[in-house]
Order: sequence, then C-alpha cells, then structure tokens
Amino acid sequence: MNLKELYQEIILEHGKNPRNLGKTDNFNKDAKGHNPLCGDNVHVYLKLNGQRIVEDISFEGSGCAISMASASIMTDLIKGKNEHEAKEIVEDFLGMIKENPKLNSENLKEDEKTKLMCLSGVKQYPMRVKCATLSWHTLISAIDNTQEEINSETLG
Ligand code: ZN
Repeated sequence: MNLKELYQEIILEHGKNPRNLGKTDNFNKDAKGHNPLCGDNVHVYLKLNGQRIVEDISFEGSGCAISMASASIMTDLIKGKNEHEAKEIVEDFLGMIKENPKLNSENLKEDEKTKLMCLSGVKQYPMRVKCATLSWHTLISAIDNTQEEINSETLG
C-alpha cells in the first residue's frame, strides 16, 4: 500500500465510522459551521474543564466524506489537549492544508500527524479545502465563544 492509498483508506474509514459523533454530555461550548459550496453542516460540542483542557469533544453533522472524516479526525486529536494546544494544532492544520508541506506542531505525535496528513491530498482542490477546514474553523469559534455561525464561503 502506498502513502496515497493509506491516506484514502484513513479518510474512508473515518467517513464510514466517524469518531465522537453525537452531542457530548454537559458540553459548555459549541458552534455551528456551514459550507454552502458543498452543503456540509457541522455542529461542534466541547467540554472545557477548569484547567482549560478539552475533556470531551464531539460533533454532529452531515456532508461529504471529506468534511465528516476531517471532523472525526479533529475530535480524535483534540480530545485531552488544552485550549492553547488545541488552537496551535488548528493553526498548524490550516497552514498545512493551504500551503505548508508538513505539520510543525510539537503537540502532535507522529501517528497523529499521519492522520492529519491524510487530508493533505485536498490541497489540489480548492473547493475540497473548505470541506476539510469547516470543522476546524468551527472548533475555534466554539472555543472563543463567538456565537457566530461559520460560513466557509466567507473564509479565506
Ligand atoms: Zn464537502
């Protein structure tokens, strides 16, 4: 299996069996995101504890395989991280998906980086980039409590 096949395998697997799907109990932050270009919808819920650690995170949504797989992978990686680390990982991911060849975050283990890198293939398709980044922008909106629905059309 080559790298591209491995990446596709991971995306398909997460698309079929999304992790952390549903509404987490006792969430204290949430935000919604919408990508009108593709019709993707996501609602991210998180429980941030007193130490600002993401104790639990989940999502509900509907949309294409890329958007769902990306949300699934995101919740998987963000759980257990503190607020600062979570934001840094989001920045790193958004940088990678738009221009950087690889991830630089020190808050991610190698296997976590592999999971994220499987989304790097969408770089060649600007429309798909919005599918992949929707849940990540929505996570930041939830953490920052902006109460604003993310619309991927208005994001750069
Ligand atoms: Zn999509």
